[in-house]
Amino acid sequence: MNVEEPWYIKDLKLDSISKNLDIWLDFRRGSKFPCSKCGKPNCPAYDTKEKVLRHINYFQYSTYLHCRVPRVKCSNCGVLQIRVPWARELSHFTLQMEATILELAKKMPVLQAGNFLGEEDKKLWRVIHHYVDEARSKEDFSDVSVIGTDETSRKKGHNYLTIVADFEDSKVIFACEGKDSSTITSFSEDLQNHNGDPSNIRKVCCDMSPSYISGISTELPNAEITFDKFHVMQAMNESVNEVRIEEQKKIRNSKIPNSYGLQKRKI
Ligand SMILES: [Zn+2]
Repeated sequence: MNVEEPWYIKDLKLDSISKNLDIWLDFRRGSKFPCSKCGKPNCPAYDTKEKVLRHINYFQYSTYLHCRVPRVKCSNCGVLQIRVPWARELSHFTLQMEATILELAKKMPVLQAGNFLGEEDKKLWRVIHHYVDEARSKEDFSDVSVIGTDETSRKKGHNYLTIVADFEDSKVIFACEGKDSSTITSFSEDLQNHNGDPSNIRKVCCDMSPSYISGISTELPNAEITFDKFHVMQAMNESVNEVRIEEQKKIRNSKIPNSYGLQKRKI
């Protein structure tokens, strides 16, 4: 964890019954810290607040970090809590634990990751939202010009999400609830909030939904629509099937020979 001066490990306790490892960190008396807002060095400690953070497991032991986090008195900014090198402010976890949560969340449902780590999933969601929001705020969509959009259902029932992907980057760039034309309006607004330009979108691949077609025509003026091959084939197979069912009904209801030239007869 690279615990550096003025921090030091004050105590450790390995409990073989509860399977917990507790580590107490503290700082040397009289230490001074930089202000977390303006960076002014050598601010004296004003008071401290005890914090307990979950760290990555030490073998099978759940590891907890206990530490007195100081607030400092900065002559520019007033009294503020300092930044510690192993955790982000307001988080219940160390940075290493947060990195583990993000890795697990890529590979399994968050509830399952929470069960695996022995933590409530809502705490994991807070970490995921924080880093996803931070990463999205830095996205630059100024080069996006070829996209694909489709709907997917969320949970059970008709709870839809619209997903937009940048086809040249093979990356999902937008998602929102619903599947009507307003989803394309929301995408267009989000694109502009990330340096993108709706008139730069040249090609859109989508299904044959009138809502998407209408949204694209209104919001993405220079976009040429290509219907997704999967949806075209799906519609074609459904139509062929309908014709087959209709033909079977006709054969059953009439005495004319079926397509194999065989007369239906009673046995
Ligand atoms: Zn300051």
